Amino acid sequence: MARRKKFYEGKAKILYEGPEPGTLVQYFKDEATAGNGQKKEVFEGKGVLNNRLSEFFMQGLNQIGVPTHFIRRLNMREQLIRQVEMIPLEVIVRNFAAGSMAQRLGLDEGAQLPRPIVEFCYKDDRLGDPLVPEEYILAFGWASQQDLDDIVALALRVNDFLSGVFHGVGIKLVDFKIEVGRIWDGEYPTLVVADEISPDSCRLWDIETGRKLDKDVFRKDLGSLTEAYTEVARRLGVLPSNVTHRPKPTLIN
Ligand code: UDP
Repeated sequence: MARRKKFYEGKAKILYEGPEPGTLVQYFKDEATAGNGQKKEVFEGKGVLNNRLSEFFMQGLNQIGVPTHFIRRLNMREQLIRQVEMIPLEVIVRNFAAGSMAQRLGLDEGAQLPRPIVEFCYKDDRLGDPLVPEEYILAFGWASQQDLDDIVALALRVNDFLSGVFHGVGIKLVDFKIEVGRIWDGEYPTLVVADEISPDSCRLWDIETGRKLDKDVFRKDLGSLTEAYTEVARRLGVLPSNVTHRPKPTLIN
């Protein structure tokens, strides 16, 4: 079989040229990284889980009219996506204080915020994706004021959708990161949710016990990452069949 042309390789995914112009194939790796790539480990099955979970969220968003890059899942580890012009920002939405925000402001982990807060980091691994004010984004031309208004509206819609879906399965959405791309349709761009939505890019706590079900399990060495992601997928009913723990057949006398 002819090898596909690699378009881009990141820490958790590879993009290949797609079957038609304007499309790409997104491949989910098993690697997990933290601390800007300083901590690295392979978790067998993580890519399969994230491919399924990202499909589930992106499809749900598409269905409620929030545009995403997702077209369809191709196989266990790959999905077909629209090629977009990436905006070089990580868009973070926070409902409860955690991680870098809790540290920066001296807030207790889990403290409820007065309202969802959207913040932006400039995507640059060499710099460790620094938090940037809107003023920088506008001055350096990474996005326009119109883009920023649209990105905030998009991010808050994603937050409402994800918070509701997770709440329905007993999970608190503490915070998450999305990335946004432009698709040009004539003169005007449409902004769409791109990259992935998975436990790699969200903080997810069990509502009853507070158990962490996201990448913090790896960042803080709290146990098995695959087990945590499997639990999220199981609750949402999106477990791929080969990871399902079916009961063993029992002999009937
Ligand atoms: N996040 C991410 N990729 C990054 C940085 C953050 O997906 O490069 C997610 C992270 O998983 C969390 C949210 O964005 O759900 C907020 O992360 P924070 O700024 O608190 O950074 P962290 O403490 O994870 O370094």
